[in-house]
Amino acid sequence: MILNVKSGSKTELIDITSRVREAVSSAGVKEGICMVYVPHTTAAVTINENADSSVKRDILMVLNDMVPWKADYRHAEGNSPAHVKSTLVGASELVAVEDGKPVLGTWQGIFFCEFDGPRSRKVHVRFLKGGADG
Ligand code: ZN
Repeated sequence: MILNVKSGSKTELIDITSRVREAVSSAGVKEGICMVYVPHTTAAVTINENADSSVKRDILMVLNDMVPWKADYRHAEGNSPAHVKSTLVGASELVAVEDGKPVLGTWQGIFFCEFDGPRSRKVHVRFLKGGADG
């Protein structure tokens, strides 16, 4: 299954938890693993707190501090900071599925991470079916 995600800012964390829950539900997976994968070199996916939206802002603030917009980058496209952030955060997450639902803690949400927006993006959601004992 592919989710279409439209970002609205240069850097942005977009909560896609409910869309992943729907994907699990519509796939009819009861037990297994859900892979959330971003096929982009200037975006990423991560799991973190979605209760207080300040956490999103703080994560972006630290990433933007860690990876300066201006440096001695060689990549001619001019978006090296976005490539670096993509690698730091990562292109995929794995989430256990139990009783037909992704196993997420009370405060956990799944975020699409935009580092070179605004753009139209894709998030692939795939499943491996099977219980803990196979
Ligand atoms: Zn580039």
